[in-house]
Amino acid sequence: MLIKRILILLSVLSLSAETFAGTVILKADDFGRGSGWDQFLLYVVNNDIPVNIGIIVSDISNERKIKTRDLIKWMAPHEQQFAFFYHGHDHNCDIASSIFLTGSGERQSKIINSDLRALFSIGIVTTAFGGPCNHGNKYTGLSLESNGFKQWLLPYVRTTGFNGETFTNRVNIESTPGKINISNFLKELDDFPENYNDTIVLQFHPGMWKTGDMNSFERAISAINRKNWSYRLLK
Ligand SMILES: [Zn+2]
Repeated sequence: MLIKRILILLSVLSLSAETFAGTVILKADDFGRGSGWDQFLLYVVNNDIPVNIGIIVSDISNERKIKTRDLIKWMAPHEQQFAFFYHGHDHNCDIASSIFLTGSGERQSKIINSDLRALFSIGIVTTAFGGPCNHGNKYTGLSLESNGFKQWLLPYVRTTGFNGETFTNRVNIESTPGKINISNFLKELDDFPENYNDTIVLQFHPGMWKTGDMNSFERAISAINRKNWSYRLLK
């Protein structure tokens, strides 16, 4: 009886090991903000790691303009391993005034549309959205849909009116924005159901990282690579 049970268990284990192929979306927020972007971009380029980068549209014209555009220029020869996602107009996270929490469909659609044009004017085309503080209200889905979006990262609300893909399986890598908790991450990664064939999202803020966080990120990437999972770019 016991041997039979062990045999069944072994066959289940080998089956799941063979069939499971996870996909990881690396979601790097707040492009150009903070001092950690140089070390982060250098690492991912040197190690050929595909990354989705959240761009805040006002940063291409405000006081962060030079830094943001310099980084974009530096990344251009490596464009095959980067995708940008729309991370809002000005990163307003105030619950009383955030466009994506308080705005009507018409207002959101208008802002999204003009932001897409601003991005296009500097050569960035995106079909993916990840709101500031992951905000979104009942009108956001329709507003994204009418502006041609195909992917929505970590939606805050039910995605009414949106026909594209949504990604909600988050594995926590930072305990607070900019601070990696590697032991918690490795535990969550190992706890992720082995028979669950889907995409997971890692959200982080490399601009805020200190050297220790960068080292922890390298450990996180090694752990993912050991699993032979693939990385997905939202293009
Ligand atoms: Zn952000």
